[in-house]
Amino acid sequence: MSKSFFIDVTRCTACRGCQVACKEWQGFQANKTTQLGWGSHQNPPDLNPRNYKIVRFKEHKIGDRVTWNFFSDQCRHCIEPPCKDAADGYMKGAVVIDESTGAVIYTDKAKKLPKEAFEQMRNDCPYDIPRRDDATGIINKCDMCYDRVKAGLIPMCAKVCITSAINFGDRDKMLEMAQKRLAVVKKEYPDAQLIDADDIRVVYLITDKPEYYHDYVLAQGPVGITRSAALAKLTAPLKRPFKNLLG
Ligand code: SF4
Ligand code: SF4
Repeated sequence: MSKSFFIDVTRCTACRGCQVACKEWQGFQANKTTQLGWGSHQNPPDLNPRNYKIVRFKEHKIGDRVTWNFFSDQCRHCIEPPCKDAADGYMKGAVVIDESTGAVIYTDKAKKLPKEAFEQMRNDCPYDIPRRDDATGIINKCDMCYDRVKAGLIPMCAKVCITSAINFGDRDKMLEMAQKRLAVVKKEYPDAQLIDADDIRVVYLITDKPEYYHDYVLAQGPVGITRSAALAKLTAPLKRPFKNLLG
């Protein structure tokens, strides 16, 4: 049975337990960061090769009231992942989809991909997720705690989320849970919505406008892309400008 996450942002308190637990399970070192000087409690400022998960903080004003939104961001494990299509154009097997869970996995082969492959992968990712360690050449992102899931456990972020904002399980059960929760939340927030639920395995429930959480809450570009389109891009690499790559 394929798996999915359901992330209910209305329950998120921004404790960052998911972010820390993810780093701990993956064995990633701390980043040297500061919260001073850029006007946000978010830390680190963005995803990076040592943070598969980041809790984003964003404020905006409605009339006299300030709203503070939190968004626990990660790879969406797209059902037809554009990053895989991009990587396949350079090296088959660098990005694979696990048959039983649906997890999108960057294999050891991904370490051998050239920098231009990474740039194509990040450019094509509708949610701006992949990151590359320039020192090692390693390209990475959330792996759905594939090792834990294969052992019958749930991903670390879902395990530690004390408010049950992050849920993980069989896809049909997660979609059912999401629809039920949406019906409840809509009574107070009529604009509440599930994001791209048919196309991805990390389904978010939000109540505010997507841009009031993060620029890439909604897919920026197609979620699925055909292999012929990927090949066409490789033969005309300069036709489509790269997004502004920030780090
Ligand atoms: S652990 Fe849960 S409540 Fe805490 S920041 Fe992550 S999603 Fe939000
Ligand atoms: S969200 Fe981006 S990195 Fe994750 S599977 Fe989809 S295209 Fe790939």
